[in-house]
Amino acid sequence: MPAIPPHDTPHDDDARAYAERANADRFARLLHLSTHATPNNAAFGPPIVNTSIYALPPQPSGTYQYARWGNPTWTALEDALAVLEDAETITFPSGMAAIAAVFYSLLKPGDRVLLPSDGYYTTRICADKYFAPMGVIVETCATAALAEHDLAGYRLVMIETPSNPALDLADIADVCARAHAAGALVVVDNTTMTPLGQRPLDLGADIVVSADTKALNGHSDVLFGHVSSRSEELIGGVRDWRRVVGAIPGPHEAWLVHRGLETLEVRFSRMCASALTIAQRLATHPQVQSVRYPGLPSHPAHELAQRQMHSGGSLIALTLADEASADRFIAACPYLRPATSFGGVHSSAERRARWGDAVAPGFIRLSVGCEPTEALWQGIATALDAA
Ligand SMILES: *Cc1c(COP(=O)(O)O)cnc(C)c1O
Repeated sequence: MPAIPPHDTPHDDDARAYAERANADRFARLLHLSTHATPNNAAFGPPIVNTSIYALPPQPSGTYQYARWGNPTWTALEDALAVLEDAETITFPSGMAAIAAVFYSLLKPGDRVLLPSDGYYTTRICADKYFAPMGVIVETCATAALAEHDLAGYRLVMIETPSNPALDLADIADVCARAHAAGALVVVDNTTMTPLGQRPLDLGADIVVSADTKALNGHSDVLFGHVSSRSEELIGGVRDWRRVVGAIPGPHEAWLVHRGLETLEVRFSRMCASALTIAQRLATHPQVQSVRYPGLPSHPAHELAQRQMHSGGSLIALTLADEASADRFIAACPYLRPATSFGGVHSSAERRARWGDAVAPGFIRLSVGCEPTEALWQGIATALDAA
């Protein structure tokens, strides 16, 4: 196999064009990565290795000593994710297992942690239920208020941008610079944007976590997660945690995510392009009271979105008149599945007030999938007329 060309380097064109090219280059390399050895690299797909033990020489060494330590199917996926993140990656059986691994490997009694008050709810439950009783001081801050928040005295600052479901933004580079100056580590939950849509490690974050359950796998058929870091000390701590505690992915699930990942670039491009078109049209639709989408100039942090994100993402927040019209809209649209997750090939939507989110009763989070854009819009427009 010919050598894969290295990244080109920025020259006179602008940083955004360079970032897009670097992303494209990474993805092409990912697709042609074949570290799962078969004779002559003949097999395109990685093997699903179902084993609990490995034949060991008299002096065991390396990863494949016992299957809680390592598995060749995880390795194939972790190698591919490492290309995409530009960072060593450890996989987990769910997004929450990945987040918990970061907390458990880093936090000690007396540490102060700052979590987003408008981020993924279970992350806060995890901290409150298991870390606060052990003496970790758990504090929260709204994503849009992070810019004004004093970061002195924290061990760890966690960012989730865009926030969920209101799609507020935080400036990752700014928070990282201030957190580092104050001696804190920064963890970014990059689930909603994926490494193709936003690159927290390039912006200074110490650790990225992702629920690959969502867009990264994209087919709504598996739960999965990963942690990436360019710090050997930090990623080593996460690797040791997984090996000791046993929160390990199944080989079949890892294989499914590897398969999903190979189409991430085409799926995510379609999803984000459709989301922009649909957000623009929703914004002028008489039935819609308001639309929040980072790719629209009406978003309060649109300028930041343009600097920090490679697209506006695949999630749209929209508000209809009330609970009943929101429910009617979702039920009437043939291409919107009523579901609480997002990032899949099938568009889905849900009224978030049903979970107690601090949003209007008619507030809907729309996850734009891979349907052809005009067909999807027709379905949405027809359902809005019926709402
Ligand atoms: C879904 C999600 C998680 C949790 O992932 P699971 O795979 O369900 O454990 C974490 N963070 C964000 C932002 C999510 O959307």
